[in-house]
Amino acid sequence: MKTTEIDGTTRVCGLIGSPVEHTLSPLIHNMLARRLSHNLVYVPFLTRGGPEEVRRAVEGAYALNILGLNVTVPHKQTVTACLTRTDALAEKIGAVNTLVRAEGGYQGYNTDMSGLYRAMESDGIRLRDREVLVLGAGGAARAVAFMCVYYGAAKVWMLNRTLKKAELAAEEINASFGRRCIEPMALSDYRSLPGEGYLAVQATSAGLYPDVLGAPVTEPDFYRLVDTGVDLIYRPFETRFMRLVRQAGGRAVNGLKMLLYQGIDAYELWNGVKVLEDTAQEIYLRMKEELEKNE
Ligand code: NAP
Repeated sequence: MKTTEIDGTTRVCGLIGSPVEHTLSPLIHNMLARRLSHNLVYVPFLTRGGPEEVRRAVEGAYALNILGLNVTVPHKQTVTACLTRTDALAEKIGAVNTLVRAEGGYQGYNTDMSGLYRAMESDGIRLRDREVLVLGAGGAARAVAFMCVYYGAAKVWMLNRTLKKAELAAEEINASFGRRCIEPMALSDYRSLPGEGYLAVQATSAGLYPDVLGAPVTEPDFYRLVDTGVDLIYRPFETRFMRLVRQAGGRAVNGLKMLLYQGIDAYELWNGVKVLEDTAQEIYLRMKEELEKNE
């Protein structure tokens, strides 16, 4: 939408977090609004500070009739205290990235994970009955591990540089599902994995721009165990992890489609619509162009 088209009925959605300057979310949502002929604009709202600041931002947004918000670092956990209801998957994960306006307040969802699931489906990567290696034990890895169990993976190993963190995360997730579905392991112990042909989801920050030569593991032996690698990172577009998967004969994808589909899932929740795959593909190409400009 051109700013000249904004009128008295324009709806507003946005992103709260810090930093927000380099986000691709406005591109996703404003392009969706144009393609679907919705009178809607999406803007970043730099939101610094602690839980009290986040509460004021959410209450202020509600008072201003804002239709929906995305939430990014560092507020994905703290924002849960400001909601009237939290969706079951988001509740389990303990992080919310999408607020949907409802009677009396916002309801919270985690479209990062439904978006990752949808991105993998669109690439023909299935989770059901698969054996999955989740690399990392931070916020993203924890959410990915939850998502894998939720969507029917047969078994999930959580491999982290610091074993203790993987143990704590696994304990929490296993308790939440009431069964032992996550097996913690030190990254350096990958040789004791029982099989091969794993789906590996790279959810550490190793390899994230500007650390372009980084990867959580660099030994080719590890990559021989992996037939498909999904890196949550999309800057750079091809990470070292992805190159190592490919060099060992596997298939690798980056996190850009995850970013796209978390946006599409949020947009669908806000507007009660279903976005067509052709539109998703068109936006994906624009996002890729935008990234290439900055590489
Ligand atoms: P985080 O909470 O800070 O966790 C970082 C994780 O990376 C920890 O498990 C840490 O291991 C591990 N790590 C860091 N450097 C490492 C190294 N050199 N070797 C091995 N492991 C290393 O971060 P997060 O929020 O979970 O985010 C993780 C990644 O996911 C980031 O790159 C982020 O950009 C990406 N992400 C992408 C999307 C998307 O839409 N595509 C969405 C969310 C997150 P220790 O515990 O041993 O320190």
